[in-house]
This record gives sequence, C-alpha cells and structure tokens, in this order.
Amino acid sequence: MAVLPIVEIPDPRLRLMCEPVDAIDDEVRQLSTDMIETMYAARGIGLAAIQVGVARRVVVIDLQERETEEPVEEAEAPEAVRDPKTYINPEILWVSDETSRYQEGCLSIPEQYAEVERPARCRVAWMDLDGQRHEEEMGGLLATCMQHEIDHLNGVLFIDHITRLKRDMLLKKLAKARKSAA
Ligand code: ZN
Repeated sequence: MAVLPIVEIPDPRLRLMCEPVDAIDDEVRQLSTDMIETMYAARGIGLAAIQVGVARRVVVIDLQERETEEPVEEAEAPEAVRDPKTYINPEILWVSDETSRYQEGCLSIPEQYAEVERPARCRVAWMDLDGQRHEEEMGGLLATCMQHEIDHLNGVLFIDHITRLKRDMLLKKLAKARKSAA
C-alpha cells in the first residue's frame, strides 16, 4: 500500500483521454488499493487514476457519509465509516434533464471550490474488481461525484463547467495560495 503523489493543474496529464482496463490483474488491484489510500490521506471523497498519473479508466469513491449526525468517538472515526468502492471503466448510460448544484472541489486543484451544475441523476455501468458488471441509477452527491470522476477519465475538470470569469478568479486564487505557500 502506498500514498501516491497527486497530479495538480496545469499538469497536461490531467487533459488525457484515459484508456479502458481490459483485464483486472494484480496491477489494477494494486492501483485501486493505492488510490483508496491516497484519497483518504488527501481527505477526498473521490479520485480518478489519472490524478495519480495513471491514464486508465479507474475511479475510487467513498462519500464517507454517516448514518447519523451523532458525533463519533474519536477512536472510531473515521475508519468506522469507510466504505470505499472501485469503479472500473465507468460509463454514463443516461442523465436526467433535472439538474442540481454542488460546491465542487478537486484534489488536483487544491483548496479551490466552485458551484457546478450537473444532471441531478445518472445511470452508470461499471466493472468491479472481480470483473462483475454493475449498473445503477445514482442521485445526490454520488451522482455529482461520479460525473466529476468520469470527467477526469476524459480529460475534463470541474473548472471547465463554470464561466470563464469564475474560472479566472479561481485560478488566480490558486496561484496566490501557491505563491504564499512557497
Ligand atoms: Zn477531481
């Protein structure tokens, strides 16, 4: 297991069209394990393989939503609520006309957020690590997160969905934050 370095903008790899996985082998299983560990270490809820520099169609997601809002004992959290899922070759089959808006962020665009409008629901097909095919209609945060991650597999970032003005402002803020951190 390894926490991998995360690729950040403007790295051109984030604009690549990623290749489908044709066989689930040890390499893919290891990639999935490392991606999950990297996602937790970075406190993200989703990660696409290209964000760790691998141009394959692999996504991991764990919304880490709690059943209740009750505070969890320090010792139990956050391990107790972890339920990571790996989606291989995920594909959007259908999206709703109805849209929803979420404040989105991205581990490749550190600490910058913007409201993005996307279809509120989507139907997605994917393969799991055992090679089983799944199909599911998703809503809420999962629908948004899945669309954000599948965008990564096609070289698309959430900042491509906002106005040029908002994007320029966000990129300026990022440059400023990087400069003061340097
Ligand atoms: Zn992202």
